[in-house]
Amino acid sequence: NIYREAQRLISLVNDIIRLSQLDGGEIPYDKKPVDLYQVASEVVSRLSPVAEKSEITLTLSGRSSYVDGNRRILDEIISNLCDNAIKYNRPGGHAEITVSDRFLTVKDDGIGIPSDQQSRIFERFYRVDKSHSTEVGGTGLGLSIVKHGAMYHNAAIHIDSAPGRGTSISLEFR
Ligand code: ATP
Ligand code: MG
Repeated sequence: NIYREAQRLISLVNDIIRLSQLDGGEIPYDKKPVDLYQVASEVVSRLSPVAEKSEITLTLSGRSSYVDGNRRILDEIISNLCDNAIKYNRPGGHAEITVSDRFLTVKDDGIGIPSDQQSRIFERFYRVDKSHSTEVGGTGLGLSIVKHGAMYHNAAIHIDSAPGRGTSISLEFR
């Protein structure tokens, strides 16, 4: 228990540090061409064991697409979206990343998000269903990191979700 809680605190502290860096413009402008598909495939390798444990199939499709960006932040964006697609799902569910021309989408057929909550989930510490959310754990910082990471990359976020059907979140790099 001590180990698990310590890990949780480490990840919370890291998230808060990350957010304040993104927010305070502390990350220098050092953008390089990064292949979204390549980063996504690394995330899939890393998260596949986690998905398997929850009986979720995690897949990647599409093709190479280069954007000017920061590899580490892009990795964090994709990881957070996939983490959610796995977490807010049910056994037998799917999570799929698609990369196409300057577009990255993470789609799941999990529990979905009511439309009146969809604008709020990018707020810090905001979580939809407190009881379900307590079961799966988390602090509500993942999507604010996604939001700030998207802003850093001048990417627009699109969300399409319905309770019981699933969620699709896309980043459009301009
Ligand atoms: P953390 O990411 O910090 O571990 P978290 O997952 O609760 O915690 P966010 O990633 O910011 O925080 O997501 C905020 C809330 O939005 C979640 O608590 C959940 O209620 C809802 N949510 C996010 N992604 C999905 C999804 N793919 N399907 C259903 N609900 C989602
Ligand atoms: Mg999350």
